[in-house]
Amino acid sequence: MNDYIKADFFAAADSLKAEGRAEYELSAPLSRCCTFRIGGPADMAVWPGDIEALSALVCAAENSGTRYFICGSASNILFSDEGFRGAIIFTTKLKKICVSGNTIHAECGAPLSLLAMAAQRASLSGLEFAYGIPGSLGGAVFMNAGAYGGEMSQILISSEYLSPKSGKISSLSAAEHDFGYRHSLYMERDDIILSAVLELVPGDGDEIQRKMDENMDARRSKQPLESPSAGSMFKRAPGHFTSALIDGAGLKGYKVGGAEVSSKHAGFVINTGDATAADVIALTEHISSVIFEKYGVEIEREVRTVGP
Ligand SMILES: Cc1cc2nc3c(=O)[nH]c(=O)nc-3n(C[C@H](O)[C@H](O)[C@H](O)COP(=O)(O)OP(=O)(O)OC[C@H]3O[C@@H](n4cnc5c(N)ncnc54)[C@H](O)[C@@H]3O)c2cc1C
Repeated sequence: MNDYIKADFFAAADSLKAEGRAEYELSAPLSRCCTFRIGGPADMAVWPGDIEALSALVCAAENSGTRYFICGSASNILFSDEGFRGAIIFTTKLKKICVSGNTIHAECGAPLSLLAMAAQRASLSGLEFAYGIPGSLGGAVFMNAGAYGGEMSQILISSEYLSPKSGKISSLSAAEHDFGYRHSLYMERDDIILSAVLELVPGDGDEIQRKMDENMDARRSKQPLESPSAGSMFKRAPGHFTSALIDGAGLKGYKVGGAEVSSKHAGFVINTGDATAADVIALTEHISSVIFEKYGVEIEREVRTVGP
């Protein structure tokens, strides 16, 4: 098809589409596919409809030399203004959730909020922190997502993954994930998380719902949920709350093009309507240099840049 998408990959996507097991779009505007609402066209965006279709597409990409990138809900990603040369494979259609006893086994694309709701319905506690995080299970395991004192490392028992080069499916126990602050072993490998098993504790359904609502209210009052963003732009610097440093440096409301430091939460960069990825990058570089000059603290971007 082009230098980045090879004929064999295209044929695999086509035949899965004909079987009703995948959808794809050519020249897909990535701004439509992410929470930041920023990004040019991907040569191809593909949505496998089942885990085997995801594995088949990844193996076809590897074997054919097609350039690809795996995305969940794209809520922690800044896509390039030039888009992506190759195929973005989105896991968002892979969202089966199975509750059994105290455990939940779910596919990688399952939205965290739906997982939290499924746990609440089964009177299982432990996922309240994840309610309102707009990511998928795979993305959350990948970066050990967390909030309000909870994080994935506290509830994950195991994950199943595909090694793209060998096509082999294996699993990791909790301890093997090497979890840390916004870190897991997956960040150092190219494996694809297919599913995960979470272990929760029995609780009171009403109390679990109350905690979820409390977390959601806190999000609504403190975070700029009314504007597109990718969540906290920067990681916490050791010993510091980055948003407090940005606020202290007087950067709330500071703008580059259409990208702005949120006046509600200094840790968020928002898209005021026409922001480009270049605006966001210029703004984050400005923030980093001001913080370093004022406090001598180096801050690192949490949001991942992808493309072209
Ligand atoms: C308004 C808002 C609030 C947020 N609040 C929080 C918060 O409280 N806490 C928090 O931790 N985060 C928060 N986030 C960030 C984001 O939602 C989380 O990081 C989430 O876990 C990312 O999941 P995702 O599916 O969107 O991943 P994506 O953004 O799609 O991908 C992120 C990374 O994970 C990789 N990845 C995704 N799926 C897989 C897979 N199946 N296998 C291998 N790699 C994979 C991708 O390749 C990419 O490198 C927030 C974001 C927004 C927009």
